[in-house]
Amino acid sequence: MNCEETRRALSDSGEVPPDAARHLGTCAECRAWADALAALPARLATWAAPSLSDTFEAKVLASLPIRRRAPRWARVAAEFLIFALGALAGLGAIRVFAPGGDAAARPADPAALGGGVDLADFVTGDSP
Ligand SMILES: [Zn+2]
Repeated sequence: MNCEETRRALSDSGEVPPDAARHLGTCAECRAWADALAALPARLATWAAPSLSDTFEAKVLASLPIRRRAPRWARVAAEFLIFALGALAGLGAIRVFAPGGDAAARPADPAALGGGVDLADFVTGDSP
């Protein structure tokens, strides 16, 4: 087992596999590395996070990309367009369903199209 394999085995398992133990017996650098690794939890337990400066939050926010809003005229134009489309759709619906409205826009009369075919005849197979 070489140095890299030994260190990977130690950091992955947290234990000392027999091959790694043999390597540690012959390699002073890996023994020092293993000792530092074993001492790491105790060092982390005593570590205190540095306090942030008063301007930290402002600096972070200033470093973020700004999501630019559309210009006011573009928002007003979009709102007007949405309103106009909604109004046109509403007027169109009224024209289609209002009695006496545009005949071409109304659904066709089934009796006029079918030449007097009764739905019951159609279902029973008696239709011409
Ligand atoms: Zn080594």
